Amino acid sequence: MSDTVDWTEAAPGVVYQRCTACDSRWYFRRSFCPRCGDSAPVVLQAEGLGHVHALSVVARAPCAALRPEVPYGIALVDADEGFRLMTRAAPGLRLGDRVRLRFILSAGALLPYCETTDHV
Ligand SMILES: [Zn+2]
Repeated sequence: MSDTVDWTEAAPGVVYQRCTACDSRWYFRRSFCPRCGDSAPVVLQAEGLGHVHALSVVARAPCAALRPEVPYGIALVDADEGFRLMTRAAPGLRLGDRVRLRFILSAGALLPYCETTDHV
């Protein structure tokens, strides 16, 4: 992890894991491959580009700190590296849109946020 930057550690980046045995890729860190069980996954830095797989709007804040931000969009993004992650979403996105990740502060926490590559 020393050469990677990850938003879960308050730094603007996204990491994923890849299995060296079967080449499977996934987002949530594990000590083994969820596909073949190999115990030596590697941690890699994502480029931050992908396509919108799904979109939704959060209208009811999950906690009081987020109440001022509703409604806000969330997206499932298929990253170019072959894994899927959930992010905040810019208004106006559509399924299949090409997106780039950046990072926003929300209630004091750094979060991934996707926006179309057409405007960046
Ligand atoms: Zn594997």
